[in-house]
Amino acid sequence: MAKKKQFAILGLGRFGSSVAYTLTNMGYDVLAVDSNEERVEEVSKEVTHAVQANVTSEKNLQALGIRNFDVVIVAIGEDIQASIMATILVKDMGVEHVVVKSQDKMHGEVLKRIGADRVIFPEWDMGCRVAHNLATTNILDYIELSPEYSLAEVSVPTKMVGKTPQELDLRAKYGVTVLAIKRGNDINISPKANAQFHKSDVLIVVGKQGDINRLEELNS
Ligand code: ATP
Repeated sequence: MAKKKQFAILGLGRFGSSVAYTLTNMGYDVLAVDSNEERVEEVSKEVTHAVQANVTSEKNLQALGIRNFDVVIVAIGEDIQASIMATILVKDMGVEHVVVKSQDKMHGEVLKRIGADRVIFPEWDMGCRVAHNLATTNILDYIELSPEYSLAEVSVPTKMVGKTPQELDLRAKYGVTVLAIKRGNDINISPKANAQFHKSDVLIVVGKQGDINRLEELNS
């Protein structure tokens, strides 16, 4: 069996602690680090290891064995300098995948330039998802892949029920590709062109934002 991924979370504000709790609940070993004693104490009740340390110190990161982790999440928002410093140190230590929470666009640009493998804008991303969910009746979840393309979870529009992707000519007419069909607890990955859509199916689709929104037109 493949070795389970090891995660370290540096900074335990709302975002960092949410990532730490979720990964722990998914069965992963998590090292959670914060300079604030109370935060560490709070999180230590839930995660495998919680340690109080300043993560802008190379010595501290070495003592924590940070270079042995597969993924390190830097979740420090307000202190931009500390976020940048921690990212540089962790990348220099050779951590393969470093994910960093960004405070704003400028901070995000800097993080990308210093080698962050993924930059996350939690408030912005959540805002986009909520807006799409509110504005349309069938979009359940929404993830922006690039400024142009998105991945969305949509309830099957009424006019698609009983039809197949081939009959509807979804890719040519609507510019969207169905990656998977969720039906109850089952998921049909990469459905065939003749797979029939059922009422209550949830589709995972990829396409341009405008095209995904146009699926709404297929609701009568
Ligand atoms: P959120 O929005 O996720 O609640 P935030 O963006 O407001 O958080 P902060 O509160 O600035 O982020 O930082 C998150 C955590 O990072 C705090 O608990 C803080 O104590 C911790 N932190 C800040 N600087 C350091 C540092 N140098 N070393 C370790 N932890 C730090």
